[in-house]
Amino acid sequence: MKKKYLLISLISFIIILLGVIIFYVTQINRAKLSLVGKTETILEVYDEYKDEGIVLKRGKKIIKPSKYKVTKKGNVDTSNLGTYKIKYTVKYSYRTINIERIVKVLDQTGPELTVNFDEVDRDFCSKKIKQNVAYSALDNYDGDITNNVIIEEGEDVLIYKVEDSSGNISSKEVKINYGSKPSNKFYLNGSNPTHVIVNNEYQEKGASFTDGCGNKLNKEIKISGEVDTSVEGTYYVTYETDGQKTLTRKVIVEHYTPKTIYLTFDDGPGANTIKVLNALDKYNVKATFFVTNQFPKYQYLIAEEYNKGHAIGVHTLTHKWNIYSSLEAYISDFDQMNEIIKNQTGSYTNIFRFPGGSSNTVSRSYKTGVVTEIAQEMTNRGYVYFDWNLSSGDADGKSGTQQIINNVLNRVNSCSAHCVILFHDYKATTANAIDPILAELTKRGYRFETLNASSPTVHSKIAN
Ligand SMILES: [Zn+2]
Repeated sequence: MKKKYLLISLISFIIILLGVIIFYVTQINRAKLSLVGKTETILEVYDEYKDEGIVLKRGKKIIKPSKYKVTKKGNVDTSNLGTYKIKYTVKYSYRTINIERIVKVLDQTGPELTVNFDEVDRDFCSKKIKQNVAYSALDNYDGDITNNVIIEEGEDVLIYKVEDSSGNISSKEVKINYGSKPSNKFYLNGSNPTHVIVNNEYQEKGASFTDGCGNKLNKEIKISGEVDTSVEGTYYVTYETDGQKTLTRKVIVEHYTPKTIYLTFDDGPGANTIKVLNALDKYNVKATFFVTNQFPKYQYLIAEEYNKGHAIGVHTLTHKWNIYSSLEAYISDFDQMNEIIKNQTGSYTNIFRFPGGSSNTVSRSYKTGVVTEIAQEMTNRGYVYFDWNLSSGDADGKSGTQQIINNVLNRVNSCSAHCVILFHDYKATTANAIDPILAELTKRGYRFETLNASSPTVHSKIAN
């Protein structure tokens, strides 16, 4: 009886134990591993990667992390594009469970494209864009990709486009404003007024009719008016064409008037002086150079000017306005320049021109009355100064070559019998104007002279 009881107890115990073991195994086996967050994470390059880890659950119940051990393999480098794998291995009781997370580091941001204009203007005639359009493209991953920018031209738009190595495209549109067609032009060829010396030939230069882009229009131009070059007087020639205002040219037939021209050049010698000298040579005209030492490497040209028969005068060594701070300061600057002239030509000069002319007012802010004082002292020392009565306007900061030519050719009619013309020979615009000016002035029969101490005085009114 006792034996039987013992057996029953043993069997019961085994059954209970088995039950407990089966329960335990079932519980362990029910555990499921999953990722916190998405299985596949998409990250923008350079963004921070945060590992969200894993979770082990049984049904809805989260198993405490202290009950298992996690090891992790793999890493994510967000500074390099690519697909990264993180492998988690969980040891939970007798089980080993693996799960994998995929992290993709992508560049999904388009390059930063900068264009310095939103709208541009197109020249109607040349079709060229008038503005200087600058652009740049900077990509968060590729860096500077300005060289990859392509420009497409649409109907009325410029499209700037750039693609980064990941295929992200940025683009910017710049609107093109088309200029309207410039109107037709009807203008005289040659000078107006035109001067003709009695019994010389009047050459009809005609007129031109062009579209706004300068293309000749085939329209007949009717010219009327007679010029009798055997009789002194003023004549008018008129030019007409369809639908345009009639143009009139004044032709002055006059007897030869021996006007004397003194070409004077200030502020050099400089980079363009050679060109001036060549033009003077071409017409065999002599001029006067009021020289400086502003461009020392061209100092040797003073000798060249002198050897070609041009006159040399002092302008200033430095061309700094502080030479007007005292008589002594002025004379010191003057003497140093005259010393250079002596070195270059073998002799001192006794003619000069005040920087700014004798009527300059800039000297007032240095010393009251200083120009009067200098003029007096320099005269006592035997020096003679010259101003001008015709400015070529070449130093006004806005006259180009054609304007300089026009200034001189128009103003020369109204200056006195002694015409002292002011130029600046270091300027390119001036150097290019000399040839055409001389072509016309020599044709008009003027005489050219250089200045010396006994030349007719041309003085402005001293203003300080
Ligand atoms: Zn000057």
